[in-house]
Amino acid sequence: MAKYFKEAEFRKCVPACRMADMRPRFLDKLDEIRERAGIPLVLNSAFRSVSYEKSKGRSGTSAHCLGCAADIRCNTSANRFRIVKAAIAAGISRIGIGKTYIHLDNSVSHPQQVIWDYYE
Ligand SMILES: [Zn+2]
Repeated sequence: MAKYFKEAEFRKCVPACRMADMRPRFLDKLDEIRERAGIPLVLNSAFRSVSYEKSKGRSGTSAHCLGCAADIRCNTSANRFRIVKAAIAAGISRIGIGKTYIHLDNSVSHPQQVIWDYYE
């Protein structure tokens, strides 16, 4: 059970999901990152089904489909630093930087120690 995150926050994700869709170890990581960052972490997206991904023209191999990824809203350079610093300190080794969010996951079946971007 997550300390800092409520079921309603997963319901508000796009697409809506449930906390039960998430791997407990990743929820623990989210809590640790929230604790370390010291700022509220707003979830934009968490669990996504393979069929949802394919409906968006994606491969369906995302860590989101494994329940071990989240996109955290982030709109300032200071908060971006806080979140990335906290994630790395918590042992997250897969980070994606979007214009308005940060993707974090702890998949072990994807490349490790990577930071990518979603810039176009
Ligand atoms: Zn993501």
